[in-house]
Amino acid sequence: MGDGPSALTEAHESVFTGLCNRCGSCCAPTVAGRVARCEHLVATGLIGTTEATRCRVYAARYDGMPVRVVDLVTGFIVATSLCRKDSVAEDASIAVWGQGRGCTLRTRGPGEVRS
Ligand code: SF4
Repeated sequence: MGDGPSALTEAHESVFTGLCNRCGSCCAPTVAGRVARCEHLVATGLIGTTEATRCRVYAARYDGMPVRVVDLVTGFIVATSLCRKDSVAEDASIAVWGQGRGCTLRTRGPGEVRS
């Protein structure tokens, strides 16, 4: 989708299936015990609920794009990271930060195609 520099990782077929409900959890990690978010994640609702967020740079994002992570409340930068669009690392962040925290994606079963 994005036209940015070439990806850090090979094209990756996600282990998940289903529709992203834009809960935003996978772009809102916990840093030092506090909820943070990618600087590009716009929250219009409670992160972890359906349609709560959108990515300000969704069409232009790419795997490996540098991002700053900001405290959800103060807005202060608390870390630097990389956007991991469509990568193994994105699947890992969904598993850690998304599933069970609002994400509606399901892990594909054996032989199940992605929807
Ligand atoms: S730039 Fe990447 S990490 Fe940041 S909100 Fe968009 S999809 Fe999430």
